Amino acid sequence: MIRVKSYPNGIYGAVTYLVYDDISLEGALIDCTSSVNDIEKEVKAENIKLKYILITHGHFDHVYCLSKMKEKFPDTLVMMNKSDMPLLNQVEVQCAMAGVEEVKLPCIDGLLSENSKNIALGQNKIEIIETKGHSKGGVCYLIDKYLFSGDTLFKDSIGRCDLFGGDYKEIEDSIKNKLFKLADDIEVYPGHGDKTTISYEKKYNSYFGSMI
Ligand SMILES: [Zn+2]
Repeated sequence: MIRVKSYPNGIYGAVTYLVYDDISLEGALIDCTSSVNDIEKEVKAENIKLKYILITHGHFDHVYCLSKMKEKFPDTLVMMNKSDMPLLNQVEVQCAMAGVEEVKLPCIDGLLSENSKNIALGQNKIEIIETKGHSKGGVCYLIDKYLFSGDTLFKDSIGRCDLFGGDYKEIEDSIKNKLFKLADDIEVYPGHGDKTTISYEKKYNSYFGSMI
């Protein structure tokens, strides 16, 4: 069974998720925003074997603690989509624009796309869904019935499309034609804010919900 823990204390409330399979104890982090010591404690307490750090997209608030986390867990593989590398490489500029202390970035160990295979936690495959619109290389990760939606889909809302690489038509296509095609009972864990479900967002999302 997959377990999910949330750490919502990043800049702008950006969330890090610790997700693991309670049989094999293989785990991953989705983004690295804050709470490095708390996450380290939890990983040790539960005996989790952290395999991956999966980045949803290249905005500074989602990778703010990546370097510190990689120092704590040097054997993890940091993975992201290639199309957001230009954004990630501008992280100092992003930090300067936001007026926060610059972050040091570790190198990315591997690139992911929808064709990536053999990414798994125990028996649970990790499916990569490319969802551009908030940025060019944004992805969602589907593990069992849990979707980690980064800044593409939020509870009742969607990610901004006015930042570098953003495009409203693209996010509309990603959400309506990819995420809303997933099973209704999938739980959605966004990069900011509360969790939701595909079924709820299909009905009530303020941008694309059928009941709005
Ligand atoms: Zn973002």
